[in-house]
Amino acid sequence: MFDLTGRTALVTGASRGLGRGIALALARQGADVAVNYRGRAAAAAAVVGEIEALGRRAIAVQGDTSAGRESCEAIVAATLQALGRIDILVNNAGITRDNLLVRMDAAEWDEVIATNLSGPFWMIRAVARPMMKARGGRIINMSSAAGRMGNAGQANYASAKAGLIGLTKSVARELASRGVTCNAIAPGLIETELTADLPQQARDYVLGVTPLGKIGTADDVAAAAVYFASDEAAYVTGQVIGVDGGMVMGS
Ligand code: NDP
Repeated sequence: MFDLTGRTALVTGASRGLGRGIALALARQGADVAVNYRGRAAAAAAVVGEIEALGRRAIAVQGDTSAGRESCEAIVAATLQALGRIDILVNNAGITRDNLLVRMDAAEWDEVIATNLSGPFWMIRAVARPMMKARGGRIINMSSAAGRMGNAGQANYASAKAGLIGLTKSVARELASRGVTCNAIAPGLIETELTADLPQQARDYVLGVTPLGKIGTADDVAAAAVYFASDEAAYVTGQVIGVDGGMVMGS
C-alpha cells in the first residue's frame, strides 16, 4: 500500500516541523525528495541526510515561497534540474503573525497572505504544466482547522488557510482531466516550533474542543500526505481532510 517508489516529491518548508515529517514519510514509501527551506540551511541538510540514509535521492533547495512568481519558479526549476521530475508537490511552508484584528498591521496581514496563500498559488502555477504534460501529479496543500472554523487573533492566518481550500478545489477541477489531483490537509494543534510558544490557556482550550483529547504529531499529518500522494488516492480530489483529533467535523 502507498508505494511511492520512483516518484519525486517537492516539499516546501521541509527543514523542520510538519514539512520535515512529510518529507521523511514520503521517502520511507520510496519517493525521492526535494527539501525546500527558507533560512535554516543546516536543518535542511540534516533532513537531506536522513532521506539519503533511507536509500532515496534528496536535495535541499533554498527559496522563499512568499517572494512571488520568480522565486517559486526557481525552486521548481532547481528541483527539475536535480531530480528530473516532480510527481508530488506539498505546499507546506507557512507562518503565523497572530494579533487581534484591531491591532493587526499591514505587514502582519501581507506576510501571512504572501506565505500561506500566494506562495502555494505560484508553486502550483509552476508545477502545473510539467504535471499536465506528464498526465499525472499530486498537489497537497497544508491548510488548517483555523481555515475551516476561523480563530480569534488569526484573521490573517484563517483567511489565508480558507483561501487555500478554495484554491485546492479550483485546481482540482481545472487539472482533473489531466490526472492531476489536488487535496488539502487541515491539521488541528500539532506539536512543532510554530506552536511551541502557545500559552497554556490556549492549549487547554484546544484540548477541550478536541474529542480525541490530545495534541497531534507530525507523523499524524504525514500519514494523510502519504495517502493523498499515493495511487490508492487516484479517485480523490478537491478534498479537505482534518487531522485534528475530531475538532472540526464537516460534512
Ligand atoms: P514550523 O514553523 O515548524 O516550520 C515552518 C517551515 O516552513 C520551516 O521549514 C520554514 O523554513 C518554512 N518556511 C517558512 N516560511 C517560508 C518561506 N517563505 N519559504 C520557504 N519556506 C518557508 O511550522 P509547522 O511545521 O508547524 O507548520 C507547517 C505548516 O502546517 C504551515 O503551513 C502551518 O500553517 C500548518 N499548520 C500547522 C499546525 C500546527 O499546529 N503546527 C496546525 C495547522 C496547520 P526555515 O526553517 O528554513 O525558515
